[in-house]
Parts: sequence; structure tokens; C-alpha cells
Amino acid sequence: MSQIIYPTTNLKKPSNLVIERGEGVYVYDNKGNKYLEAMAGLWCSSLGYNNKELIDACTDQMSKLSYSHMFGGKTHQVGIDLAEKLTSMVPMNNAKVFFGNSGSDANDTHIKLLRYYFNAIGKPQKYKIIARERSYHGVTIASASLTGLPVNHSNFDLPFEALGILRTDAPHYYRGALENESEIEFVDRITNNLEKLIIEEGPETIAAFIVEPITGASGVIVPPPGYYEKVQAILEKYDILFWCDEVITAFGRTGNDFGSNTMGIKSPDLMTLAKQLSSAYMPISASLISGDIYQALIEPSNKVGVFGHGYTYSGHPVACAVALKTLEIYQRDNMFDDAAVKGDYMQSKLQKLNAHPLVGEIRGKGMIAAVEMVANKKTGQAFPNGDIGHYAMAACQRLGMITRAIAGSSLAFCPPLIITTSQIDEMIFVLEKALDETLIYAMK
Ligand code: PLP
Repeated sequence: MSQIIYPTTNLKKPSNLVIERGEGVYVYDNKGNKYLEAMAGLWCSSLGYNNKELIDACTDQMSKLSYSHMFGGKTHQVGIDLAEKLTSMVPMNNAKVFFGNSGSDANDTHIKLLRYYFNAIGKPQKYKIIARERSYHGVTIASASLTGLPVNHSNFDLPFEALGILRTDAPHYYRGALENESEIEFVDRITNNLEKLIIEEGPETIAAFIVEPITGASGVIVPPPGYYEKVQAILEKYDILFWCDEVITAFGRTGNDFGSNTMGIKSPDLMTLAKQLSSAYMPISASLISGDIYQALIEPSNKVGVFGHGYTYSGHPVACAVALKTLEIYQRDNMFDDAAVKGDYMQSKLQKLNAHPLVGEIRGKGMIAAVEMVANKKTGQAFPNGDIGHYAMAACQRLGMITRAIAGSSLAFCPPLIITTSQIDEMIFVLEKALDETLIYAMK
């Protein structure tokens, strides 16, 4: 029996696939089996495995300065260099960055930064945060409270109320539309619901609205056209900050540099980044705020003192060096444009599987996608539990590909950005075979 408590696993049925090494877009298990890593790990290994430049950046920095911190006014050059490069890339006005270790702790930082900010400007009652159903923002006490997935809530008794977390609709037309409702009507209805919620709660109590520009872990949901335009108009009307959690969607993943740009979002006030920030070679995250928020925090007249928050590993120099090298590679190799072209290729190939009897919806943008399997193709009737998703995921694994069952009966695809078109063809080939096997299983 293993000594490990496996995350997001039924502890009564722990995993037994032991991954030993990786090369490019492939990983190998301890029995020598090769798998195409069609999920880039957990949506993060953008530059694939065994990238020599990242390994050198890591070991060089370890030899030079293995640890230093950013507390009490101390800093280090590689942290400064990363902050400068990152803030010059994000689609925000005069962004400032706080470094952490994971997407979850970066979202916690933002919750505290919001409280700190509204206390600073004399509005302590403005602390509530609106998050969407079926969103994923992490698993710490606070970030799991933002998360809108029941599996991350059940049996944890999370303090939603104390944290002031409110919930609004997921922008998923396929699963959320009423009968005969058009996409435009759907957008009108759910954005009206958002406005109603704001009015009911009192706009003066609401600090921010958090979104993943394209929802990742809970289904790869791409909101319909016009959704963000309406959302941002409502938030502006009621003076509510807009917070983009781009932990998955940043750095070329959605056919653009950032998911905000893919979705036509105007300059968010807050942004969360992690994962592809370092191509997952080292754990690092970033909580970014706009220059306007920062300006208020440094006003001599504001009502708060020390920002008493930080992690031992905030701005860890080795993680900063690897992240900096990752960003340099993205820019040097024109990787966002390249990923946009390959993303179009991947999406068009996936769309060909729409005709498959098991497929209800194929959705995505750029290099992220989900294939939803349904019990009845005509009506879109869902399978009653996640069994089919897990069967299809296991079929892919048997056939030499790692994917992930999400949102019940969907398979997710988020390959390393370095994948080639012929490897995309291989991914589609395996998927088609796995769907055929799953269909036979579903008909039993
Ligand atoms: N936010 C989003 C959108 C994510 O997808 C994730 C992880 O998948 C997180 C936050 C949490 O990040 P981490 O697992 O690094 O804590």
C-alpha cells in the first residue's frame, strides 16, 4: 500500500501509473511505456520535457544564489528582471506584481490585497467577491471557496460567507441555455442575473468579479461573443474591479498572448498567473494589480500600514530565473504566434470528430479544448455520472496518450505548445480510437 495521499483522487482507488521521465511532448512510465502528454501535465508544461535551456537557467541560478527573499525591502536582481519582463507583457495598465508559489496562493494573495486596498481607501465594507459556477481557482481554504466545483467543496465546510464569496452563472451556452434560447438571449439573461445579484447585495459591498477568461479545469468553457463586453460594462457601472485568473489561459494557450486578449477583455484590474509562467519547471505564481490600485496603496494619506503578507518562497530566485528564461524563449521563438497557428490546426482537426455518435460538443480556442461525450447526441442528454469520462481517459492511456476526464464526461486537451502538427495528428488519431472503444462500452 502506497504511503501517498493522492490529490483529487478517490482515496479508496489510488493511482498506479508511475511516470519516470519526459522528453519533448512525451512521458515514459516505469515499465518503459511511452505516452503523448496531451494535457501538458496539469495544463502547465508548455515547453515540454527536458528543455536544456530551462535546466541550465535553473542550475546556473542555484550555483549563483540558491535562495534569497523579498521581505522587508530586500530583493534580488533576477526577481527584479522577471518583474520587469512580466509586467511589460501583461495586458494591464502599469501592472505591479507579487510573487507566490502556486495559483491557489496567488488567488489568496489577491483576496487579501483586495481587503487591504479597500481598507486603505476607506471602504472596508467593499469586500465581497463574485465568482462563477463551474470555475476553478484553487484549493486553499480561500481559493477553494472561489472555486465553483462541488467536488472541491464537499466535506470541507468552506467559509464562503465569512469570505463574502457570491456565485453567478457559468457562461456555458451548450449546458446552460434554456429551451430555444439563442446565444444572444443567453448572454442577456446571465449578465442580467449578474446585475441583479450586484443590486441585491449592494454594489458598495462588492470588491471584484473573478473569471477565468476561458474556464479550464471545469470544462474548457468559451463564453459566447458579447459576454465580456456586457460584463465589463456592468462592472464599470457599479465600480467593481475585474479580476482575470489566467493561470491556464496565459502565455499563448488560447491563440493569443493572454486569454484576456483572445476574449476581447479590456485591461483587467487584477490578474493571477502560474503554471506556464515557468513552463512548470519550478513552482512560481504571480498576483498582478493595476498601477491605479498600487498608487492608492502607496498614498501617504491611506489608512493602512505594512502589507503583512508574504511566503518564504515569494520570488524564489531559482523559480524567477526559470520563469525569466521561459518568457525569453516564448518571445525569442515567437511562440504565441506559432501556437495560434497550431491551435487553429488542432481545433479544425478536433471539429472533424463532431460527427462521432458519442460527441455532443467540441469546444476550445487555440491549444486548449474539450470533447464532451453525451448519452444522446440529438438532445445533448448527459451521462448520469463521470464513468464514461474515466473510461475514455483510461482508453487513451492504454493507447499511449495522457488526457484528463473533466466536467463529468468531457476529455480535456492542452498539449505542450511545442507540439508539432504531426503530433497533433497522432493525438487526434488516438482520441478517435478511444472514442470508438468508449462507444462500445457505453452501448453495453
Ligand atoms: N486558477 C486556475 C484557473 C487554475 O486552473 C488553477 C489550477 O489548475 C489554479 C488557479 C490553482 O493553481 P495551483 O494548482 O497552482 O494552486
